[in-house]
Amino acid sequence: MSVKVCKFGGTSMADGNVIAGVKKIIESDKSRRYVVVSAPGKRYSGDTKVTDLLYACYNELKKSGTCATSFKAVRARFGDIVKQLNLNFDIDAVLDETQKRIDVENSEDFTASRGEYLSARVVAEYLGAKFVDAEDVVYFNEDGSFNGEKSYKAIEAALTGVEKAVFPGFYGKGVDGKVKTFSRGGSDISGAIVARAVNASEYENWTDVSGFLACDPRIVDSPKNIKTLSYKELRELSYMGANVLHSESIFPVRKANIPIKIKNTFRPEDDGTAIVPTSRYVPSGNTVTGIAGKKNFTVIYIEKSLMNAEIGFVRKVLSVIEKENIPVEHIPSGIDTMSLVISSEALDDNTLSRILEGIEYAVEPDIIRVIENIALVATVGHGMSSSVGTSARLFNAIAAADINIKMIDQGSSELNIVVGVKNDDYERCIKAIYKEFFGN
Ligand code: ASP
Repeated sequence: MSVKVCKFGGTSMADGNVIAGVKKIIESDKSRRYVVVSAPGKRYSGDTKVTDLLYACYNELKKSGTCATSFKAVRARFGDIVKQLNLNFDIDAVLDETQKRIDVENSEDFTASRGEYLSARVVAEYLGAKFVDAEDVVYFNEDGSFNGEKSYKAIEAALTGVEKAVFPGFYGKGVDGKVKTFSRGGSDISGAIVARAVNASEYENWTDVSGFLACDPRIVDSPKNIKTLSYKELRELSYMGANVLHSESIFPVRKANIPIKIKNTFRPEDDGTAIVPTSRYVPSGNTVTGIAGKKNFTVIYIEKSLMNAEIGFVRKVLSVIEKENIPVEHIPSGIDTMSLVISSEALDDNTLSRILEGIEYAVEPDIIRVIENIALVATVGHGMSSSVGTSARLFNAIAAADINIKMIDQGSSELNIVVGVKNDDYERCIKAIYKEFFGN
């Protein structure tokens, strides 16, 4: 029988009424057996997520030795939820014990993880399912990376003979035996881990939008919904800022070819977006699948005659950046030119001057120039490689909007074309590309 793993995000846990809807969703499909939950999110705009309340608890604990005052807000959120659900569950006892343990553990990760822990305790009780603590089944390696081998085995063992279970997302256990969290939004990763461990037929990720849109709805009014995406397209789009899913969350399921479905808890009847293994991807007929982007990059432009003939040139330049421990996002190059595109966030003035001096010293370029305030816009789609003239259409659309392209990088997979434009032209550039490939 097929098994689905369902992850419910923060807005799906926001209050008792929403959680009651979640129960209906789970019970409407027997294969929805394993559930991963986030901490309760915002109930309305201006509200505070429980995880943020918990980070405040840790700040208080650091200053005063206890989280007692800040924890009151967390207590109130869970007290309300249990009341709204009409649950006969002694949440106060669990909250008392949690508050004590936060003070004793005295760790930021442990404190932050308690939102998911408490959510999962309540939801398990409400569904009549087994609570499986992530602390006992999700493990990290010495270097902080996720330990798949150990975790998958532990999850499998914990679920033997278990019909329904609820897991808290976002955390696991480090090699020091202490609770450790993934990065923010990491419950998506936890959901993918459980899906992989049970070899699920599908990983359903329930959120507050009906899947991926072809571009940011704050820039284009009601953009089209993407019905199907390949893993590769998803990776490109989420890396470039489309943030429906945590960008690392696909790795565990991708290896096992498990499809992901993005669904809307508030509109369960909507189709959502299916994310499928690239090998099973059937093109939709659209040349472009989606457009995403990010602002605030710095481009270091380097020119030197006969650069192409100079052995080790690129390595020497890159080793300067490596010394600073900074990632390079793109490296577009010509015969005698190369550019390094780096997130401006990673570069303070001192680091930038050290890099420039380092490159001068290492390769003695003819010209080295810094271009700041650059936005990157990625146009993504499997259909792009097979349709002739896609790049011409893209560049013409950008030119027709009177936008100067500062940099072009076409990924070797021909799945995406990234252009660099001025930050100020970012929104207009996305609008122009959308209009060209999707109309309106
Ligand atoms: N609650 C955590 C956060 O706010 C993790 C998650 O929701 O995925 O980042």
